[in-house]
Amino acid sequence: MSRVEEKILQAGRADNFGAGPTGLPVSVLERIMQEGLSYQDSGMSVMEMSHRSRWYDAIQASAEAGLRTLLDIPDDFSVLFLQGGASLQFSMVPMNFLAEGKTAGYVTTGSFAKKAFSEAKRIGNAKVVASSEDRQFTTLPELDGAMLDPDLAYVHFTSNNTIYGTQWKDWPNGIRVPVVADMSSDILSRPIDFSRFDLIYAGAQKNLGIAGLTVVIVKRAFVLEHAISGLPSMLSYKVHLENDSRYNTPPVFSVYVLSLLLDWVKSLGGLDAMTARNEVKANLLYKTLDQSNGFYQGVASTEARSLMNVTFRLQNPDLEPSFLAAAKEAGFVGIGGHRSVGGCRVSLYNAVELEQVQRISKFMEEFRAQHTQMA
Ligand SMILES: *Cc1c(COP(=O)(O)O)cnc(C)c1O
Repeated sequence: MSRVEEKILQAGRADNFGAGPTGLPVSVLERIMQEGLSYQDSGMSVMEMSHRSRWYDAIQASAEAGLRTLLDIPDDFSVLFLQGGASLQFSMVPMNFLAEGKTAGYVTTGSFAKKAFSEAKRIGNAKVVASSEDRQFTTLPELDGAMLDPDLAYVHFTSNNTIYGTQWKDWPNGIRVPVVADMSSDILSRPIDFSRFDLIYAGAQKNLGIAGLTVVIVKRAFVLEHAISGLPSMLSYKVHLENDSRYNTPPVFSVYVLSLLLDWVKSLGGLDAMTARNEVKANLLYKTLDQSNGFYQGVASTEARSLMNVTFRLQNPDLEPSFLAAAKEAGFVGIGGHRSVGGCRVSLYNAVELEQVQRISKFMEEFRAQHTQMA
């Protein structure tokens, strides 16, 4: 057993498959603890320092540089470190870009996508341009980008549907209007083709660290040329852009955790290595479902399956409570489905290790063996 494995065992750390917030890499937690009393030569922890100190200057610069390198963000995009979660972006996007007399298009592929749509309707005109609600969000809708009304203020997508477990693989072609995407639950899990987007946003607590921080990556010209002026300062992308995300106090500690997390991704080999690792993890779990003779049934249709959130049900729903209880007993945390849909969900964000997926997969096979004999 390695020194790290020993420490994990000693600390009694659970296998955390929560959908968000979720686990952090152990090496990141160790760094946080090491630097907990004094960060470098500052004489204080990051929690205690000024957001205008030279130490925080370097932390924010490192977080931005890390995102730019790993995601290969083009120079004409700005990175903003905001608060209010992805949920505030549901409002900020239409406040900034949905002008009077215009309509915004929403692709509703799950609960968060619907929330984004309903917040937009509070601000202005918004319509659904494609939806998979008629198929209970188990798949993704067909959408020909060229068919979209070219007069839309923007079209809004959700790249990964955290609750239903579906994920866009390819983006619709031929879209001629600005594209906005909520990438809260799969940012940094795979490359992003920035030529297809004008603004993306993500709450940090799934793949970028801890709650309190929302990362917005936006094409500068989209803001400078199209954003509505006269908004309350805190709700204006332009204000945050002009103030280097420090119009007010940013979530200093969350940005620090992001910077450590990005260093960790780099140390594993960057985004390509992360993508490969995520594919191996998800394939193992989907194989466990698919080779269970129907005992476990995937919720999402095969072609839309998410690499981040694996949703499934037990063929015999009466067994679900005992399955979830046994999983909890075995040290697996966070695998109940979202309270709105039930069932089971194992989230495999970046920080989840392959060994953890192997453990839950083995547990699932054993549970099936026990309960098939009884049937
Ligand atoms: C978790 C999640 C949200 C909500 O994020 P908050 O930061 O809690 O507001 C929005 N969209 C998606 C896709 C999510 O997974």
